[in-house]
Amino acid sequence: MPEIKLVNVTKRFGKAVAVDNLNLTIEDGEFVTLLGPSGCGKTTTLRMIAGLETPSEGEIYIDGECVFSSETGVDINPDKRNVGFLFQNYALWPHMTVYKNIAFGLENMKWEKSRIEVRVKELLHLLRIDEFADRYPSELSGGQQQRVAIARTLATGPKILLMDEPLSNLDAKLRMEMRTELKRLHVETGSTFVYVTHDQLEAMTLSTKICLLKDGFLQQFQPPLDIYRYPANFFVADFVGSPNINILKVKGSNVNLDEIKLTHEKMEFLFEPVSSSVTIQADQELLLGIRPEDIVLDEKGVVEGKIYSTLPSGMETIVKIDIDGSILTSVVFGDVDFAVGEEARLSFPGDRYVLFDGKTTKNIA
Ligand code: ATP
Repeated sequence: MPEIKLVNVTKRFGKAVAVDNLNLTIEDGEFVTLLGPSGCGKTTTLRMIAGLETPSEGEIYIDGECVFSSETGVDINPDKRNVGFLFQNYALWPHMTVYKNIAFGLENMKWEKSRIEVRVKELLHLLRIDEFADRYPSELSGGQQQRVAIARTLATGPKILLMDEPLSNLDAKLRMEMRTELKRLHVETGSTFVYVTHDQLEAMTLSTKICLLKDGFLQQFQPPLDIYRYPANFFVADFVGSPNINILKVKGSNVNLDEIKLTHEKMEFLFEPVSSSVTIQADQELLLGIRPEDIVLDEKGVVEGKIYSTLPSGMETIVKIDIDGSILTSVVFGDVDFAVGEEARLSFPGDRYVLFDGKTTKNIA
């Protein structure tokens, strides 16, 4: 049974449409990330699932039960939806110890003291914060406070955990650590996680599926690597991946039904579409997407260019190459010793190109 289902959900604020006719089915045990640029409707969607925002239209089901319907008027209270929330500003109670913060929800539920003790110890251990049980929040680092907040949310055992940018207050290193913790927690608890972020890398690394939104519209809902390799349109292709995908305006023609020849000035690509029988019109505007890792700097390369810039980061170097005014980005593992202006040759060994219609910007191959 699907854990969370949104059917034709729309949310308007006055005349502005924040979420437009969204249909989404999140299966039991998934880690779904709502991803997209600022203002695309991520938080509004999460808040509607939680019951903190009332949809203008549509239906929401949790575990098979209708928790909201604009038709029938059903609108179940947030505290009756069996979901836990973790928001960006996860204020812990400053006058309570870590132990008390975690135990609070269970005391409210009138659990017996001995049972609370077992549960809190389990969570302290799960979040690796055993040693801080007697400290107050002000005596903890940001990352430690974050873990207490997660433990507090998990304490009552919600089957669904809704999180809105919970790592945004942390520095880069802690964020990385907490991502690992969240992924581990997801596996260990078996709960369904729904997570809001505008950080594509966070979404790529954490999720079982990404729900990518733009202007309130669903663009694509698929596992991260499918979104990366088979983006539904140019917006999706450009939003995921760092450095960004390379885009070239190309002219194309069908060599045969399984092969398309694409040209951009002196560059030529033979492309096998994922779906066979794609036909290209002679005057069709086309955009070709090539991921940076699919461009190889290679002495035997077929295309000649000049080094435009190099950005080394230790583990990898981002190299930009100028080919008669078109700048392409490649990623090279480790260090390189190219000088700006130096000649370079490129090859495109992959067959993992993406082809978009220049007008609709939809993936056509
Ligand atoms: P961010 O990443 O910046 O948090 P988001 O994708 O979470 O953005 P939402 O907060 O869901 O976006 O907002 C979606 C749209 O709805 C935005 O245009 C926003 O201005 C609008 N909006 C959200 N809440 C309200 C509100 N209470 N009243 C009016 N407009 C709102």
